[in-house]
Amino acid sequence: MATPTQETPNQAVKKNPVNEYPSPPFSRQPQEPPGLASEMNPRPDHGETSYQGTGRLVGRKALVTGGDSGIGRAAAIAFAREGADVAINYLPVEEPDAREVVDLIQKAGRKAVAIPGDIRDENFCNQLVANAVRELGGLDILVNNAGRQQAVDSILDLTTEQLDSTFKTNLYAMFWITKAAVPHMQPGASIINTSSVQAYEPSPNLLDYSQTKAAIVAFTKSLAKQLAEKGIRVNAVAPGPYWTALQVSGGQPQDKIEKFGSETPLKRPGQPAELAPIYVLLASQESSYATGQVYGAAGGSGNP
Ligand code: NAD
Ligand code: MG
Repeated sequence: MATPTQETPNQAVKKNPVNEYPSPPFSRQPQEPPGLASEMNPRPDHGETSYQGTGRLVGRKALVTGGDSGIGRAAAIAFAREGADVAINYLPVEEPDAREVVDLIQKAGRKAVAIPGDIRDENFCNQLVANAVRELGGLDILVNNAGRQQAVDSILDLTTEQLDSTFKTNLYAMFWITKAAVPHMQPGASIINTSSVQAYEPSPNLLDYSQTKAAIVAFTKSLAKQLAEKGIRVNAVAPGPYWTALQVSGGQPQDKIEKFGSETPLKRPGQPAELAPIYVLLASQESSYATGQVYGAAGGSGNP
């Protein structure tokens, strides 16, 4: 197998996707939500050592919610290496993961802004956007990626508190943050929302979560039509199973963690690094005709 050189960047090296990354079985590894990527075994690959930028986002200013870990971290690292300054939001308990991301953004030579806080609060969402705009000097890319997923087998055990928390994190916050961000965005700006395969193939134990992910698809398509005349594009990404803290901290029961990803044709979960190029594409000018679209990334299963 060819090794990466300056002429052949890592992304250009041909590999078999079946065995490029870890496959199940995985060990049980419960964590309290939201969980830390740095305590997972194996540690997820967010592109820390592999993502190589080619100047696709030079000078852009990005805000990524849930940017401390998982899919948001992979997007944050890739954006920085493509030349963007990046603000990340996360919960205060995730500071250890967030510090690693701040360090990686700075090592890419870009400005990193860390804004911890709970997005279930409308006032905080407004402050988050105001701080990001002030620190970055504007806003070109918004990634609404933070999410809450707690599996519950029966509707009879699904509490109003959980329903409320999931809807606030996954839907209300997206509405509040986007509403605050749009007045700062110029033509050429891009909003990217993280939906899920759960919008299309909802699992029985994710009754609350799957509804929010379906609503994110409708939000994306509706807002895309609204903002087209402003030259702001709005798209969503619908991942299948990815190896992240969200899954091991109650997103799946632990017996499902042991075989996580085995049901996909590639027989393994995706790694956050494998999603980063989609977020970069949707953020960049290259996808100028893409708006109101949902990009599936589910390892051979799921819709769209
Ligand atoms: P993750 O745990 O690494 O990221 C989720 C982040 O959401 C956390 O890091 C946390 O910072 C943030 N968050 C949660 N509640 C919050 C709150 N109240 N206030 C502020 N931030 C909060 O896991 P991930 O899998 O990378 O999740 C990112 C997105 O991807 C989520 O929207 C998730 O629903 C979606 N998704 C994940 C998968 C998967 O298999 N991992 C599949 C489809 C969709
Ligand atoms: Mg996290």
